[in-house]
This record gives sequence, C-alpha cells and structure tokens, in this order.
Amino acid sequence: MSQASELHPETPAGEGKGGRVIPLHERKARIALAGNPNSGKTTAFNAYTGSRQHVGNYPGVTVEKKEGVFRLDDTEVTLVDLPGTYSLTAYSAEEIVTREVLSRETPLAVVDVVDASALERNLLLTVQIMEMGIPVALALNMMDEARRAGMHINSEMLGRRLGVPVGETVARTGEGLKEIMAAAVAFGRENARREPLRISYGPDLDPVIAEMETLLTERRVLEHWYRPRWIAVKLLEGDERVREEVREAAPEVAEKLQDLHDVVSAHIRATLNASTEAIIADYRYGYIRGVLSAGVISREGHRDRMALTDKLDKVFTNALFGPLIMLGILYVMFQVTFDVGAYPQGWVEDGFGWLGDTLSDILPEGFLKSLVVSGIIDGVGGVVSFVPLIMIMFLFVAFLEDSGYMARIAYMVDRVFRAFGLHGCSVMPYIVAGGIAGGCAIPGVMATRTLRSPREKLATLLTLPYMACGAKLPVFLLVAGVFFPGNEAVTLFLLTLAGWAAALLTARLLRSTVIRGESTPFVMELPPYRLPTLRSLLIHCWERTWMYLKKAGTVLVAISILIWAGMTFPTLDPEAAAPYEQRIGALEDRLAALPPDAAEAAPLNEAIEQARQELGAAELRHSLAGRVGSALEPLTRPAGFDWRTNIAMLAGIAAKEAVVATLGTAYSLGEQDPEDAAPLAARIAADPGWSRATGLALMLFVLLYSPCFVTLVVIRHEAGSWGWVAFSMLFSTGLAYAVAVTAYQIGSRVWG
Ligand code: GDP
Ligand code: MG
Repeated sequence: MSQASELHPETPAGEGKGGRVIPLHERKARIALAGNPNSGKTTAFNAYTGSRQHVGNYPGVTVEKKEGVFRLDDTEVTLVDLPGTYSLTAYSAEEIVTREVLSRETPLAVVDVVDASALERNLLLTVQIMEMGIPVALALNMMDEARRAGMHINSEMLGRRLGVPVGETVARTGEGLKEIMAAAVAFGRENARREPLRISYGPDLDPVIAEMETLLTERRVLEHWYRPRWIAVKLLEGDERVREEVREAAPEVAEKLQDLHDVVSAHIRATLNASTEAIIADYRYGYIRGVLSAGVISREGHRDRMALTDKLDKVFTNALFGPLIMLGILYVMFQVTFDVGAYPQGWVEDGFGWLGDTLSDILPEGFLKSLVVSGIIDGVGGVVSFVPLIMIMFLFVAFLEDSGYMARIAYMVDRVFRAFGLHGCSVMPYIVAGGIAGGCAIPGVMATRTLRSPREKLATLLTLPYMACGAKLPVFLLVAGVFFPGNEAVTLFLLTLAGWAAALLTARLLRSTVIRGESTPFVMELPPYRLPTLRSLLIHCWERTWMYLKKAGTVLVAISILIWAGMTFPTLDPEAAAPYEQRIGALEDRLAALPPDAAEAAPLNEAIEQARQELGAAELRHSLAGRVGSALEPLTRPAGFDWRTNIAMLAGIAAKEAVVATLGTAYSLGEQDPEDAAPLAARIAADPGWSRATGLALMLFVLLYSPCFVTLVVIRHEAGSWGWVAFSMLFSTGLAYAVAVTAYQIGSRVWG
C-alpha cells in the first residue's frame, strides 16, 4: 500500500499511486441517501445539494436516478438519492434498484433517513442495509413533529445498540443535516470493510445459513457483489433474482443451495406451519423490537399528531362521507385545473402558432418546410400546449400525495377492489397509471410488483392501461373543448370514472375466467396527515412535468418525424396532382387579373382554398398512412372515424401523445396556406365529418384501446409472456371498438 492511501484510507487503490500525496481538497466521498417513501429524503437531498443535481433514469427501468454534489468541509460529497422503499426484497423496481446501487456501486456509507415517529417500521430497511455490510448513519428525521407530539428518542442509546451513528434532523429546516452527513463520511472511512450485521434467525435457520455461507465462501460465488451471508438469507427468503444470479454464476452450487433451502423450508412448514420468508421477517422485527426496547423511546402527554389524524380520519374515511368527500375533491381538482389552465394554454398555443408562421415564411417551399412546420412544430406544439394544464393537475396530485390523503383514497377504494377480485395494493398502480389524473401506465405496470399474488398482479396490470393517463389527456382536452364547451371538467371527470369502470369490470371478468383464484388479505398503513410545503409541492410537480416533457421532447419528435414521413410518402404522381394544380393556377390567374377590391375576389379566394384542400387531401390519402387509414375506414365508419382519425389511432399505439400530434399534422396537410393556420380545435370544429357523437366515440376509443408500445414492452416483462401482450392489445382494442361504435350510434341519434 502506498503512503498516500495509508493517509487517506478511503482513496481507491490506484489513485494514490506513485507516492503522490493527495491534497486535502481532492478528498471525495460517495454517499447514498436511503429511506422509506415520505420519510423526507427528497427534502434532505435538496437541502444538501441545492440546484447542483443531475437527474436521469436507471437503465431499463423507469425509476429516477438523482445525483448531486456538494462540499462538506474538505470533502467533495457525491450524494445519490435512492428510491423510497420499505424493504430490500425483489418485489418492486425501487427495491431492486436500491439493492443494486448498494451492492454494485458500493457507496462509502448510507445516510438512512427515517421518520422518527414511525421508527419500528423504518428500521426494517435500516437493518437490511446493515445486513449488506454497508456502513449506515441514521438520520432521525421529522424530529420537529416527533417533539411536538411529545416523543423523546434517546438517540445515543439507539446508536450504541445498533452500532451506528445516529442524529436528529429536521430536513425542512436543515437542522442536524450537516452533522449526520459528517458522521456518515467519518464512519464510512473507518469501516470500509465493515462486518455485516448478523441477526440470529433462530435454531432452524441459523445452521442452514451457516452451511450456505460456507459453500458460497468456498466457491467464491458473486464475492465482488454480495456478502455470502446476505446471499444465503436472500435465498431462504425465496428471492428469485438472487437465485437466478447464483445459478448463472455457479450452477452446481445453486443446486446444492436449493436442496438445503427445500429441506429447511419443508421442515418449517411442517413444524411451524409458516414460510421461511415469514420466519425471517419475524426475527428481523424481533431484533428491531429488542433494539427499541426499554428506554429508547419515551412519550409525554398525548398532544399527538396521531390524535388529530384520528379525528380527521373519522370524517375522511367515514363509510358515507369519505367517498363523497373524495369525489368532491377530485371534482374540484378538475374544475380548477380547467379554469386556471386555460390562460397559459392559450399563450403556449399562440407561441407555437407564431413560430410556425415565422418559419414557414423563412423556409423555402419543399419537404424541409413541410417537415419542420407540419411535422415537428405542429406535432410537438400540440402536446406542449397542454403542459400548463397538466402541471396544475400534477400540483394537485402532489398535494394529495404529500398530505397523506392519497393513502386514504387507496384505503377507501380497497373495499370496492375486493369485490372485483383485486387487492388493496392494486389501488396504487391504478392511481400511478392515471386513476386520478395525469399518470402513466408504464410506472403503473412496474408498481404492480408490490402485489405478491401473481393472479392479482396480472389482473391489475392488464386493466390499468384503461386509466386516463397523462398522454390521453390532450385528446380529451381537445375534443371536450370543441364538442362539450363549458363542460370540459365534467367530461374529463366522467371519462376518468369510465376508465375505472372499464378496468374494474374487466378485472372482474378476468378473475372469474382466465385468471381465476383466491384473493390475498390486505395490510396497509395510513400515514399521519401533514400539511405539505409549497416548496416540496413544486418540486414534485416539476419532477413529473419534466418527465412528461422529456418524453415529448425525445420520443415524440422521433415519432412525429416518422408519422410525417408516413403521411408524406409516397408522394402524389405529377399526373395525378396536375389537375388540381392547373385548377389552382387558373383560379390564381383570374384573381391576379382582377382589379383590387373587386367583389369577385372573395369567392375566388375561397375556391382556391377549396382546391388546395382537395390537393392536400389527395396527397395524404395517397401516402402510406393514408392507405392504411383508408383501408380501415369501412371498419371504423360505424364509430364515426374517417381515415385521418384512423391514422391518428395507429400513431397512438406508438405513443398516446402522438394522437393529437397526428391529428394536427393530418389536418394541417389539408391546408397548405400558412395565412390560414387555424389551431387544430378550430379545424375540427369546422369539419363536417366531425360531430359530438364522433368526439365522444373518439374519446372513449382513446381511453380504452391498445396500450402504447412502451407499456406493452413493460407488460411483457412483468407478465412474463408475449401471449399476455397480444391479449392486452386485442382485448383492449376490441372493447374500445365496441364501446366507440355504441357511443357513436347512440350519440348521433340523440344529438342528431
Ligand atoms: P420522500 O418521499 O422521502 O422524498 O419525502 P419528501 O422529502 O418528499 O417529504 C415528504 C413530506 O414530508 C414533504 O411534505 C416534506 O415537506 C415533509 N418533511 C420532510 N422532512 C420533514 C421534517 O423534518 N419535518 C417536517 N415537519 N416535515 C418534513
Ligand atoms: Mg422523494
């Protein structure tokens, strides 16, 4: 070992080579921030890093990866914000990501942010991180609330029992944050090769764990990533992922381990009538209870936050008022969104209109101009203009989540869910997918990993794409604005309910036919109510809006261009275009020959416009997309869809955002005159092919038909077979078609 790395034991071997003494200002530390959801991690992360953050995605999953750098005395700390989790099993993407970051990226130490008033539940994660052998410092957060509730925590005693640094923090004000970070860095440096925490798992499991550990150590299985004992415990917990990794690394060892597992789990089943997983959980909780026993926590008085929460819950989760209040809150949310959001939406639309006009004046005639103006600007502009509305909606959603009310919604809806063969935990995936507004089916499908019964999971993930996700909102907003003016909020509200109805009824159908089986019981905790800060609301709202914009900015530009190409090529033969062009030319000549302000100018201009539209339509119909759309027209006519709408529906399978974008392009191709670049809404309103019935049928079709491409890929991953993907596409589209045809047929009779 070189002199330098002796001086600075945290320096990775290699960096200090050549006897170079590392100057103090180059000292670096990589620290991970872990904790249960809602423990205040994001708040702490922002307090540490301010604006110096980098947000990305973990490869292959939709879990966000946040990193930030800041200086702590003489050390440059890189802080990694791990996703919020309760445990380190492999049941959710968040848990897997957390595990992999901890094992593969081996941070110097973890700062575990825990909600001080729910210590027992929070420590479950702490213990599991300690079992991985990574140095942990415990931040007892929300101490302001704990103190107000009359709670005292003897953090010194807690730290001694756990053998880790413990500090009291208030992430909102920054109290104690610096101290706990400094403690974590120092602790990590002292304990780089720390022995992992060893909990006793009882007389049945301990010998098996020891035997497995020996086997794993001898064969050096996955030694760079995991501690052998950790692998052994995970295998006994029935962790598929670890089992798979071991099998790949050392197949013969995996077999022996499996035998050991089978023997002990059969024994435990026979003697204790329990699973090994349950026994492990029991002993972990036992350990935590031991740590917390006698003197760590003391309470005085009963001026409890929980007391207020209990009072509020008497009203908010009341069997009668609860659901009424819930519907009322959701309704107000929609109403306010529309009233307030209309203004900025108009500004954004005007901005893109101006941009399109300006560019079409500058650019020369031809494909480039068509690509930029009709392809990119109209396509992206159509989507971006809905961002203000979506932001306001996300702000409400953030409020519902941060205040703790979202959990009450889940709790109330749970009673209904059982009746449909689903689980209480299905509520969250549904809500994430857009059950309240503005979600996304992709994280929704991933969130179904928390469902432990494969049947309930399957039923949930196959039906959650019916929710009104954020990408469908622009379609609803557009159509409702044109055909149900003044009733946009009611329309959206009813569509949201329709999405729920379709999802629950389909789930019921699936659970009594193709995925029949028992239901599992429901356990969920209701967090205390809490008034969110404006700052954290804005951050959460911005995070989601940014995700939406990123999608619009990347995938959508690519898709807009592809769709534009599909709608432009093959181009019309010159012979076919000639009659139109001759007609336009002749009309223009006549117009030019007229004296200024002649009375005949107006009808002539109209005739020219008409001829241009016919040319545009002929071109689009001739294109690849037009041909497919036209071929489908006989099938979709009973739903009121013409070939242009069909093109938009096809594009929507690529990404739902593309529906409005494609309609925008389809209807702008028909009108080449930039002077007349009316917004899409005005064009649809004026088009004789569209009516209220068409609008209604379109909205219902978009709500229910095939999930988008990325969702299908995630479904494949979670459901485990392409068969379910095909089922999802065909069943959903069939259902959507039936509903749209019914709506159109009834609507066109009722509204004439
Ligand atoms: P995360 O889910 O762990 O990222 O939690 P957040 O940072 O989003 O915090 C959840 C809520 O708790 C937010 O409304 C925060 O403002 C609030 N919060 C965070 N830390 C504290 C604290 O120390 N005291 C109090 N009273 N509230 C806090
Ligand atoms: Mg957070």
